[in-house]
Amino acid sequence: MEDCIFCKIVNRELPGEIVYEDDRVLAFLDIHPKAPIHLLLVPKSHLASIQNEGSEDVAGELVSAAKHIAKEKGLSSYKLVFNVGREAGQTVNHLHLHLLSGGPSELTI
Ligand code: AMP
Ligand code: ZN
Repeated sequence: MEDCIFCKIVNRELPGEIVYEDDRVLAFLDIHPKAPIHLLLVPKSHLASIQNEGSEDVAGELVSAAKHIAKEKGLSSYKLVFNVGREAGQTVNHLHLHLLSGGPSELTI
C-alpha cells in the first residue's frame, strides 16, 4: 500500500533494523523504543487494524513469531501490545504487535 511506512520497511524502501523475517511476518526495532527491547512485528501484507475483518489469523501469526523471537533471545518475560484505534495510541495504520522487554511492568505505550 502506498504511503504506508511499514509497507515501505517490508519492501526495503525505508530502512529498518530487521531482526526476524519469514514469509508472512517482518520484525524490526521500534525507532523510538519505550523499553530496552522494543520490537514491532508486522504482517508483510498490508492490513490496517485488528478491527479489520479476518485479522485474527494475522494476529495469531504475529503472536507466534513473537514467541519464536522471545525464545531465540532468551526472553522469559515480555509484554505484547496491539494498539487499536487512534485514541488507544495507534499512530500507524498497518497492523503491528509491539514486543517490549526489560522495562517496568507498568509500562504503557
Ligand atoms: P503505534 O503507536 O501502536 O501505532 O506504534 C507505532 C510505532 O511505530 C511507534 O512506537 C513508533 O515509534 C514506531 N515507528 C514509527 N516509524 C517508525 C520507523 N520508521 N521505524 C521503526 N519504528 C517506527
Ligand atoms: Zn502497510
